[in-house]
Amino acid sequence: MSEGTLLVVSGPSGVGKSSVIDAVLAETNARFSVSATTRAPRSGEIDGVDYRFVGHGEFSDLVNSGGMLEWAEYGGHRYGTPRGPVLEILGAGTHVILDIENDGAHQVKRAYPASVLVFLMPPSRSELERRLRARGDTSAADIDRRLAVADEQMIDARDCYDHLVVNDDLEGAISQVVSILGDPAIPAADSAAFPHTGSGSPTRSNTE
Ligand code: 5GP
Repeated sequence: MSEGTLLVVSGPSGVGKSSVIDAVLAETNARFSVSATTRAPRSGEIDGVDYRFVGHGEFSDLVNSGGMLEWAEYGGHRYGTPRGPVLEILGAGTHVILDIENDGAHQVKRAYPASVLVFLMPPSRSELERRLRARGDTSAADIDRRLAVADEQMIDARDCYDHLVVNDDLEGAISQVVSILGDPAIPAADSAAFPHTGSGSPTRSNTE
């Protein structure tokens, strides 16, 4: 049996990764890798579904025992991908999707060169800021921090990712990621330049 594809989806906070990933999971038989994190749950988040919410001690134990496929710090919290479940699902021939930030994506690529890295781009920086503020669950200081990180991530993404997908029209972004999962070698549609305008009319929320 051939292994499943390890698909890494990164992109700045607020770009709509969760919306895209949820739809791709619904349209394919891919499974989601539930990360462990030391950050507190947001309202509505379920332990074991959205994240495994763990204390600093448990997180360190996982790292020290080699139980993390990758891990990184983001916004003052630690996030990591538990190795065991990912390898088990891939071994069974099923695709696995990771929603992780750039450092983690690079670690995965180094460890598993066959992994496929997708970076979701916002249609513009101002649209990203609007989406972050619309979420209403993040403080102003945290939004500023996330925007600063986003600037660095979007520069880094140009060189390091296999595919750049612009989440302007949500349905379009979803179908591009589904195509990439089906055939990881297809060229990215929008890798030439960072777009500054967008007129998509998504039928699902672009805000994550
Ligand atoms: P949030 O706190 O908004 O859920 O996530 C913040 C950032 O952490 C997002 O960019 C998300 O992709 C990233 N992230 C979530 N889980 C992991 C993980 O397991 N590893 C890494 N490296 N990043 C993660």
